[in-house]
Amino acid sequence: MFLCLVANRFSQSALLKLKQTEGMEAHSAEDITELKQFWGTAEGLLIRSGTKVNKKLLNEMPKLRVVISATSGFDHIDLKECNSRGITVMHTPHANVQSAAEHTWGLILASQRKYLRCTDQIRKGNWQRGSLVGQELHGKSLGIIGFGRIGQRVFKMAEAFDMKVQVHDPYVDQTPFPQVKFLGYEEVVRNSDIITFHVPLTTETKNMVNHNSLEWFNDSATLVNASRGAVISLDALLSFLPENPQFSVALDVFPSEPLSKESQLLQNPNVFCTPHVGATTEQGIAKASVEAVDKMIAFSLHEKISDSLPPNAIWAEKLIEAP
Ligand code: NAD
Repeated sequence: MFLCLVANRFSQSALLKLKQTEGMEAHSAEDITELKQFWGTAEGLLIRSGTKVNKKLLNEMPKLRVVISATSGFDHIDLKECNSRGITVMHTPHANVQSAAEHTWGLILASQRKYLRCTDQIRKGNWQRGSLVGQELHGKSLGIIGFGRIGQRVFKMAEAFDMKVQVHDPYVDQTPFPQVKFLGYEEVVRNSDIITFHVPLTTETKNMVNHNSLEWFNDSATLVNASRGAVISLDALLSFLPENPQFSVALDVFPSEPLSKESQLLQNPNVFCTPHVGATTEQGIAKASVEAVDKMIAFSLHEKISDSLPPNAIWAEKLIEAP
């Protein structure tokens, strides 16, 4: 019997498939601590980002052979520690690309059309549209930083708005994208009305938006981040915002999550925030659950490995180790 533990939210149909697999014994709970009695014997672990796979947990799971996260991000897993113990780690990087890209456009539209202020005004009984004049996207320039799965999907959607798009990604193979204008980071930022980040968190991307690079942004630009919070230096942003009243920000991710309700960010009317829900759609969760479960079954039956971590990319050497 292959003993597999499932922590966090997985779709019922995926769980059922796992539990009905011959040779598989599976136990699931929202919180991994509820499964403590099985830690000593489990070979497989299925998680989402709510479970931190760190040295402490790994010490208590001596038989663990495979960790599969039904997520695109993986900074909740200590990859080096897993690797040194010979534990295979996989993830589901394709399952929530659509959800994350759609959410990016939600953030962009919310900031351009002041949706938060609109609702707020109606709640207060105000119907004064003069203070709610927004911006069209048509003809505006969009800068995409990071042209991987999500950046490319965001690019495709930009065509529908007839936007001028420029991209910065020093690692992507540009050959399949002759139609894409690739530029340096500073050039993209200086020439874009809206700049959206879709990078992993590495030693290079941490604080990519800092005191220095914020000076490259147009006074009335919009900064969007649905990648990893630490890509933006919050201190730098907090001192930049009051001096630039036309500048707006739309964020799904924060250097430290959850973002405190006392955060100064929330005092600024030009900041639109969501609580890291880029991948949180019924469809995204369902696709990731099925994909992760299928990978677990394939590993238990045939030792099959796909979408293993760390990713096979040059920038992977620069990943910032997490938990
Ligand atoms: P990906 O690995 O497919 O793409 C990342 C791209 O960033 C790659 O093309 C890489 O070459 C590029 N890159 C690396 N270093 C760079 C640098 N210094 N400058 C510019 N580009 C650089 O990843 P993805 O699936 O597109 O995900 C992008 C980010 O979004 C990740 O951080 C992921 O964790 C995050 N994410 C967030 C949510 C959410 O809920 N908000 C959901 C899914 C993914």
